[in-house]
Amino acid sequence: MELTIDDVYAARDVVRRHLPPTPMWSYPVLDAATGATVHVKHENTQPVGAFKVRGGLNLRAAIGDGATVTYSTGNHAQSMAYAFGERCTVVMPAGTTPSKVAAVEAWGAGVVLTGASLADAEETAAKIAAETGARLVSPGDTPELVAGVGTLYLEILESRPDLDAIVVPIGSGSGAAAAIVVARALAPDCEIIGVQSSASPAAHDAWRTGVPQTRPNKTRAEGLATGRSFTLPQRILRDSLSDFLLISDDQIAEAQRLMATAAHTLAEGAGAAPLAAVLAHRDRFAGREIAIVCTGANASGPELASLAGR
Ligand SMILES: *Cc1c(COP(=O)(O)O)cnc(C)c1O
Repeated sequence: MELTIDDVYAARDVVRRHLPPTPMWSYPVLDAATGATVHVKHENTQPVGAFKVRGGLNLRAAIGDGATVTYSTGNHAQSMAYAFGERCTVVMPAGTTPSKVAAVEAWGAGVVLTGASLADAEETAAKIAAETGARLVSPGDTPELVAGVGTLYLEILESRPDLDAIVVPIGSGSGAAAAIVVARALAPDCEIIGVQSSASPAAHDAWRTGVPQTRPNKTRAEGLATGRSFTLPQRILRDSLSDFLLISDDQIAEAQRLMATAAHTLAEGAGAAPLAAVLAHRDRFAGREIAIVCTGANASGPELASLAGR
């Protein structure tokens, strides 16, 4: 099944019933630091603190009141909990930070804590789906989630169809895949450039090699932390992603500090990764008109602590 721009337009009819468009601002200090004209898309202002809520709402509209079960350590969990409430069960690894578990429960979803890794959580979620008939929702391979998050790229490109590039942080790749679907239709000359941490490079390595990959998963930036690649987004990224950049967790931390001081914005690591890439590849972006997506604000305790620098 190919995802099209019409799926994203349909998703917008759903998402706009629940959420206003998010702002996109420029900051002269950020332009000076990068040498580019930078537009920051502020998904950090969403009610769950991340862009994924758009996908959850679209999936909810597609499948109605049915029960769902999914697996996540972070923002996908909150998105599903926000959209489905008690009709969602989220399986999380036993070591998940208590504040994240609490946030998911506060939106009304059930939480099952089990296993050591996301792969363990996935296995348990599949078992629950088989036993209860609940729909198993993959965070990366669900077309309704991709179409939903695509609405943020409609907002960007309808207001700035002249952009040279949009820099997108990649975990599963669903956001970048959605960006490609929208850019193909609205702004075919706009490059979509992906970013991942070199400490969790599964999606990057899958894109470079053209085959599915499992990789060590050590980044502190949770939104970028998937130990494996996902089929649906990789299929869309393969021919159409303009480039895929790797950066270090230290470069991400530096960019988080600059987001705080220059853009008045609390960004979690994944949300600051696009700025980190623009700073690390200055020559590539200088003099150009670009958007960076601040995908989320859910900074962890250690991330908050490191904002003050050393
Ligand atoms: C999930 C997430 C990402 C990565 O998005 P994918 O669609 O999985 O590639 C980036 N930033 C934040 C804040 C996220 O929650």
